[in-house]
Amino acid sequence: TKVVIVGASHGGHQSILELLSRYGEEVEITLFEAGDYVSFMSCGMELYLEDQVTDVNDVRNFRPENFPQSNVHILNNHEVKAIHADKKTVTVTSLLDNSTKDYEYDKLILSSGVKPNSLPVPGNELENVYLMRGYEWATRIKDKISDSNIKNVAVIGAGYIGIEAAEAFRKAGKEVTLLDVIDRPLGTYLDKEMTDILEKHLKEKGIKVVTGAKITAFTGERQVSAVQIANEEIRADLVIQAAGVKANTEWLKGVVDLDDRGWIVTNEYLQTNLPDVYAVGDATLVYSIPACAKMPIALATVARREARYVVKHLFEKVPSEPFGGVVGSSALSVFDYHFAASGLNSFTAEKAGIAVRTAYYEDTLRPKYVPEKYGNTKVSIQLFFDPMTHQILGGAVLSTYDVTAQGNVLALAIQQKLTIEDLAEADFFFQPGFDRQWSLLNLAAQQVLGEEA
Ligand code: FAD
Repeated sequence: TKVVIVGASHGGHQSILELLSRYGEEVEITLFEAGDYVSFMSCGMELYLEDQVTDVNDVRNFRPENFPQSNVHILNNHEVKAIHADKKTVTVTSLLDNSTKDYEYDKLILSSGVKPNSLPVPGNELENVYLMRGYEWATRIKDKISDSNIKNVAVIGAGYIGIEAAEAFRKAGKEVTLLDVIDRPLGTYLDKEMTDILEKHLKEKGIKVVTGAKITAFTGERQVSAVQIANEEIRADLVIQAAGVKANTEWLKGVVDLDDRGWIVTNEYLQTNLPDVYAVGDATLVYSIPACAKMPIALATVARREARYVVKHLFEKVPSEPFGGVVGSSALSVFDYHFAASGLNSFTAEKAGIAVRTAYYEDTLRPKYVPEKYGNTKVSIQLFFDPMTHQILGGAVLSTYDVTAQGNVLALAIQQKLTIEDLAEADFFFQPGFDRQWSLLNLAAQQVLGEEA
């Protein structure tokens, strides 16, 4: 049985792993990757930029030699150009010699992902206007971090990718301006109580944060020298654009159903409109459990869960169960702070048209008598829940102490559709070296119910 995979990132990698572990040598696996470098892990880019991982060749999901099996063929520099559903073949161009060949498939898994958006403004073709994804950009950005000619860096987009860029350049001693069109950094991940803490912290660390920034142009001669916003010009020897993505699906137009924004349309079994053609990862919308709807949740975790599901059911006539959906969880360090967010927040809930009640809780990590100098820091917790049923739809934790694992507790609660009442009573450990007599998640939920903490 021939399985063809498009794209060597998280979705493609997980597909190979699942195929081998479930079907062994019964399947002939061919993976095509348009790029030269196989499976750069963008999630690890900041570690590389900050010299915590020094060799770019280590920042990847896998190397072709990790799959020495004779039934696995990994072909980089091979771009899939077309699908012929009637013949069950794909047309592939080798970018090495421009030759084109057709390959047969019994099952085809698309994980062609996304590419970052270039802002549609004058000057976006100037030198030193960069994007941030994949191997090529990682190595180019790394060169600029150690380039003493680069003094002022403007980062556009204050989502987690933009924050990672801003932090890496600031730590390297550059003057960094972080711009976003909305009113707060990380505003699509966290509510205002938490972004206020982080915005203040970014400023303390020397980052200039400009919100409500509508960029009208990049200016400069050959090379960028400034970013133009409404009534201000921000000096920049380098611009990193981290403001949205576009699905790599132009090549599928007219053959595979796409929605009006270019995302691949899949059904509840992650099948496309073509028989035996599946799609996973960033190029698709994914079913969100708390939203009860499909949303763009661009995470490695999503691509991997979808690939696992697709391969598990790949040879069933009708899949025995639909894909269960995801919660969508992420974590990030912002200099000295660490946060984890799961499910919906006020911003994403509003976008999805879902009514949520929010609650914010702040307390010390450990019993009050433990002095701050022994790490008894402040912890913030945010909960989002259905006003009628109290089902937990989202949540976030934030502290200078690493409480991100609590984000996974929230993720499980959201996935299992627990209520605030469940969380108020959930049985968690207590040990004063780590936490309070009642765990912080218990206390946050109890506060919602109007109980005394
Ligand atoms: P992609 O990673 O987009 O890869 C698609 C691949 O397909 C590419 O290699 C492309 O060259 C190839 N391709 C496309 N079209 C074709 C074609 N026609 N023929 C052949 N090959 C083709 N997620 C997390 O969960 N945690 C994190 O900490 C995290 N950090 C991130 C940090 C950064 C800076 C970035 C940019 C992303 C981060 N992500 C993180 C998101 C994560 O990287 C993506 O969700 C994940 O890579 C999606 O995987 P994918 O398989 O859908 O596609």
